[in-house]
Amino acid sequence: MNIVEIIDKKRIKKELSKEELSFAFNGYLNGDVKDYQMSSLLMAICINGLNKRETFDLVDIFIKSGDVLDLSSIPGIKVDKHSTGGVGDKVTLIIGPIVAACGVCVPKMSGRGLGHTGGTIDKLESIKGFNTNLTEEEFINQVKKIGIAVTGQTKNLCPMDKVIYALRDVTGTVSSIPLIATSIMSKKIAGGADKILLDVKVGDGALMKTRKDAKELADLMTEIGKFYKREVVCELTDMNTPLGDNIGNSLEVIEAMDVLKGKKGTLRDLCIDVATKMVSMSKEISLASAKKEVLDVLEKGLAFNKFLEFIKAQGGDIDSLEVSMKNIDIKSTKNGVLNKIKALKLGELSLMLGAGRINKEDKIDHRVGIVLKKHLHDKVEIGDTLCTLYVKDLNIKINPLDYFEII
Ligand code: URA
Repeated sequence: MNIVEIIDKKRIKKELSKEELSFAFNGYLNGDVKDYQMSSLLMAICINGLNKRETFDLVDIFIKSGDVLDLSSIPGIKVDKHSTGGVGDKVTLIIGPIVAACGVCVPKMSGRGLGHTGGTIDKLESIKGFNTNLTEEEFINQVKKIGIAVTGQTKNLCPMDKVIYALRDVTGTVSSIPLIATSIMSKKIAGGADKILLDVKVGDGALMKTRKDAKELADLMTEIGKFYKREVVCELTDMNTPLGDNIGNSLEVIEAMDVLKGKKGTLRDLCIDVATKMVSMSKEISLASAKKEVLDVLEKGLAFNKFLEFIKAQGGDIDSLEVSMKNIDIKSTKNGVLNKIKALKLGELSLMLGAGRINKEDKIDHRVGIVLKKHLHDKVEIGDTLCTLYVKDLNIKINPLDYFEII
């Protein structure tokens, strides 16, 4: 067997055996297969796909690349949640503490940014001291103690996804339904939770641009979950417009805290919905009863206190959050009504400002990003600020109409 033959086989749309997939992917993990060869195979997979058998085999290879967490020492049902990624998606930072404050354990393994979409681990790393590399023991002990822990993929948990994810991020090989399903489900299974809520984002700022593709991804992930005896609930949610007002790492942590402290809007509504489903599926209670618990912990400040407890438990100093002192107001050049806030374009802009990676070794600037100042359907006049950019370099010129549609 050799890697070039395997790449060539996928290039001409042939099915790969489990042995071939293992040869290529395990070879990449142990350094025998090079970045350029794996990039080429990933691109062939992006273009020609994987069938169900190949996808299930790849999930197995990913899971077996490391340990599967045994969470049985944590009493009760453990629920995990994963978003397929969007722009301004700081939902995990909000719902994790809400659900934990409702008494349900949230052992969460999260990822970094991917393409133009942000990642929870990058966001949490804007908090100085926050440890995103918990050992298995630290992870389990923290969930037992305070009901929530969020960690990146440690060396031992799905290391295959860690290396493939980083390569996909910078090689234009993110948008593949089988690769996304493999990446998410291998992490979720290895993470050990009993129940999993999947938030599949649809729209121009999401990896899935159409409801048809989002449904296909949701069905595939549900099937994989079932195979591994996990209860999976998928919901399809909009990502044509960024979620909330802030895009960029520190800025998103700040907005997550604002929501936990009471800020109203579509982001809070979505978080209440997701948290309600997680509490309902975990406690096996009605959605109405679960929603009552969710609103209660939010309104009494218990969810915000849980957030602070969680940040402190992982060594973070919440007072260390910094945003860039350099900012630029982007003003409207047109009168009218705000008809579109283009999530993809703003995600790309945030990436360009330094909030994400273009190359694998790029260092993120946690202090940069975008704050939206107008909402969909707002009336806008020439000179009104549409958004503020937090930047490293004030020498940035953009055309607001590339990012906002005003009619
Ligand atoms: N989130 C992941 O964890 N993996 C993907 O491939 C896409 C979104």
